[in-house]
Order: sequence, then C-alpha cells, then structure tokens
Amino acid sequence: MEPRFKRILIKLSGESLSNTGRGINVEAIQPIIQDIKTLIKNDVQVGIVIGGGNILRGAQGDFKGQIERSTADTMGMLATMINALALRDLMKFHNINTTALSARYVDAVMQTANAPLANALLDNGNVVIFAGGTGNPFVTTDTTAALRACEIKADALLKLTTVDGVYDKDPNQYKDAKRYEALSFSEVLDKELKVMDLGAFVQCRDFNVPICVFNMNKSGALIRVVAGEDEGTWIRN
Ligand code: UDP
Repeated sequence: MEPRFKRILIKLSGESLSNTGRGINVEAIQPIIQDIKTLIKNDVQVGIVIGGGNILRGAQGDFKGQIERSTADTMGMLATMINALALRDLMKFHNINTTALSARYVDAVMQTANAPLANALLDNGNVVIFAGGTGNPFVTTDTTAALRACEIKADALLKLTTVDGVYDKDPNQYKDAKRYEALSFSEVLDKELKVMDLGAFVQCRDFNVPICVFNMNKSGALIRVVAGEDEGTWIRN
C-alpha cells in the first residue's frame, strides 16, 4: 500500500471490542488489529482513542436520577480504561508495540498521557491508546479524539462507525439514501448532518483536522482510507 498519511488518530467506539454491543470479545476487534498491523508495517503512526459504550455511557445509564451525571461520566471514563487495557494486550498479542496512556493519574494501571510522551512513542512506531477520555465529564470520546488529534498533530481523524459514511438521510430507514464521498465542514453544519459531537466537529474544523467516517465492519476499509481510495466520507475545510 502507498499511505497518504504519516500519522493518524483512530476513534474506535467501545462496541468495536464486542460482537453483541456489550462486553469484550477478543475475536471482534481482530480485523481492525490486522489492518493496524499493516499500517504500522507501512510506517504509518497510529494513535487510538477508545470509547466505553460497550460497558457504560454516562448519559445513557439507567440510574433514575440517583447517580449524578458527573459520577456516571466518570464511570464511563473508567470503562474506556478497561477497554484500553484489553486493546493494549490484544495488540501486543499480535506483536504490535502498544502503550496505553490515561488522561488522569492512575499510577498502577497506566502512565499519564502528555503530548511529548505520546509523540515520542508514536515516532518510535508504537501505537498509542488514549484512555480515560478527556478526563472531564459532560463530553464523550468524540471530544477526546478531536483534542488528541490536535495534540499529536494527526494528518487525519478516522472515525470508525457501523455505517459506510455520511448519508443525505438515514440509510437504515431509506433505501435511496446516498453516501457523500466528500463534504466541507460548513456543508455538514448547513445540512445538519450527524458526523460526531458538535463540539468535537468544530474543534477539527478550527484546527484543520480532516475527518473520515467509514464502516469498521467492512473488510480492509481502514487500509483503503489510508491509501486514499474511495471509502467512507471525507470532511475537509
Ligand atoms: N466520557 C466522559 N468524558 C470524556 C470521554 C468519555 O465523561 O472525555 C464518558 C461518558 O460518560 C461517555 C463514556 O465515558 O458516554 C464512554 O465514552 P463514549 O460514549 O464516547 O464511548 P463510545 O460511544 O465511543 O463507545
């Protein structure tokens, strides 16, 4: 492959670690790990922001108002750490040098993230998994992905989802829904298309980080995106 990017930031939802949407299944993430291995062999530097939705999302917890939202979000951030530990070991099992870094100090669990450390690891060919979200409640790992992409100066933020890209209408509801190959940030905002959390999206626009949204369940899609082939939807300024 001929990579178009030197350094990418991948946003993986927690569900990428599961066949059923809940929990962790070591088989589910295998195809993505194989694709990442190919990228590393081709000298692409890979950062990953992992979500926690397969375990817990703060805003969606059925806590009947008895657990504070900030507590539920902290529980969600801990869920991303559980996923990061699993993903780190799975990557290592497949012989990919990988380090998990946490947004918050959790000394016995993993090192605390900071930009010089992350950049040095990436420069040395290590995959870096960013765990613990931003470390702050009331946002999601979309925001984490946008911030980390800026921090490591990623050439692109690749958001893996369960649909083939951004459509003019819901492809699960409308057979004639059309996928956009490319959009500008302002087109997405004008058309009110859903790409990611709005704050995260605007962050990418303001710091000129192109976004690609594509289907993680499509074999080889990650490789095709990095090789610049027609896959998913690109959003650029
Ligand atoms: N979360 C948070 N702050 C962050 C990132 C995440 O509070 O900076 C919490 C929030 O409750 C979120 C949960 O962690 O719902 C899991 O992250 P997310 O929903 O983004 O996971 P994904 O949908 O990507 O699996």
